Amino acid sequence: MSHHQILIVGGGAAGLTAASQLKRARPQLEIALLEPSEHHDYQPGWTLVGAGVFYLDETRRPEASLIPEGVHWIREGAAGFDPASNSVTTTGGQTLRYDVLIVATGLRLRWEAIKGLPEALGKGGVCSNYSREHVDYTWQCIRDFQGGNAIFTCPPMPIKCPGAPQKIAYLADDVFRRDPAVAANSKVIYATATPGIFGVPTYAAPLREVVKRKGLDALYGHVLTEVRPETQEAVFRVTPASPSRDEGEEPIETVIPYAMLHVTPPMSAPQVVAESPLAAEGAPGGFVEVDQYSLQHKRFANVFAIGDVAGMPNSKTAAAVRGQAPVLVANLLSLLDGQPLESRYDGYSCCPLITGYGKVIMAEFNYEQQPAPSFPLDPTRERWSMWLVKKNVLPWLYWNRMLRGFQHERRFMPGVQAKA
Ligand code: FAD
Repeated sequence: MSHHQILIVGGGAAGLTAASQLKRARPQLEIALLEPSEHHDYQPGWTLVGAGVFYLDETRRPEASLIPEGVHWIREGAAGFDPASNSVTTTGGQTLRYDVLIVATGLRLRWEAIKGLPEALGKGGVCSNYSREHVDYTWQCIRDFQGGNAIFTCPPMPIKCPGAPQKIAYLADDVFRRDPAVAANSKVIYATATPGIFGVPTYAAPLREVVKRKGLDALYGHVLTEVRPETQEAVFRVTPASPSRDEGEEPIETVIPYAMLHVTPPMSAPQVVAESPLAAEGAPGGFVEVDQYSLQHKRFANVFAIGDVAGMPNSKTAAAVRGQAPVLVANLLSLLDGQPLESRYDGYSCCPLITGYGKVIMAEFNYEQQPAPSFPLDPTRERWSMWLVKKNVLPWLYWNRMLRGFQHERRFMPGVQAKA
């Protein structure tokens, strides 16, 4: 049995950022990072891999190259959490004890929740930017598309990067239009479980215009339930969130044929988290039950969560981690010092909404669904400059600033300052 002052479970965008910022803030902290993967993936780059802009290899680096100096890497996964005894068991059978735990395991992709999908994925026109294994196939499907229905699905929230399911639809539409024969013979369908195009009204308005301009078929309240690869059909449950259905009506089933099907699967917390005492009892998804402002667990004071696995109502993105990490660091240090936890996360998130090649609406917002722009420009406009930010600047910032623990973004509730 080993003991660590701070144990971080998960060395993805959130775990690495938290470890780096903690080491910068207080180098003498003793930190262990529990992470089984030898690699780290820049998942925000996968939309552009699926669109033929990036190579897949550009989005991956060895985990070892990203772990901050002085942080002890344990190359295993968490197999169980016992917060009552301040311990985590590992997949290798170790028991790790801690003073403070940070949970940063990200999400589980539930491919199996859609009947026929696991078998269908990666062939016959069924692809997904959410899978490293199949994201190259997205680009192949788009490039080789000869007409018919191209369907892009979005499951019920929460998912990571809620804008990603529609970004690839806009990019594919651009490619299809390059060939008049294909354009004349194809229909791009965005079928989403949500009641509207985007959850933040300020950005939903321009996106509705994009859908109209491109002539996309946007189907709301459509939940993908089954893929039938033999007949190339997608089965949807049409819920009352669809304008075609009335409140209280029973959902109905509809079947749509496809030539290409880009699937975003439903998501939840990893099972090991969802089945642990850290999850909120009875709440869907099994996310860690933390206070949405302090990131501290509501029942276990020495536990924090950051990133996608944290049960907060923010939009789950790597950008949100930029807003969360300084708050977590400040509050964790306050806890160690016996001081009150005063830093507050305002729900900042950012989703660079790619509406075509060379066009991005840089959607930044907070818990109140208010725009929180980093640039002194109208954030609702499609811009070439923001395309350059998405394509060139953000990857650089991610690898060289964010994961290295530099705080280039500090957003807090008005009037409350961070202590880190
Ligand atoms: P992850 O980065 O997924 O890391 C989780 C880590 O935990 C992994 O390393 C995993 O191996 C580890 N882990 C899992 N289980 C265990 C366990 N039991 N024990 C120990 N370790 C474990 N974000 C943006 O900001 N902008 C975008 O444009 C954007 N686009 C996206 C497009 C796509 C297609 C995808 C898939 C994501 C996109 N995102 C985007 C979202 C972003 O990638 C995530 O929000 C971000 O990676 C969350 O960080 P995380 O550390 O919480 O999870």
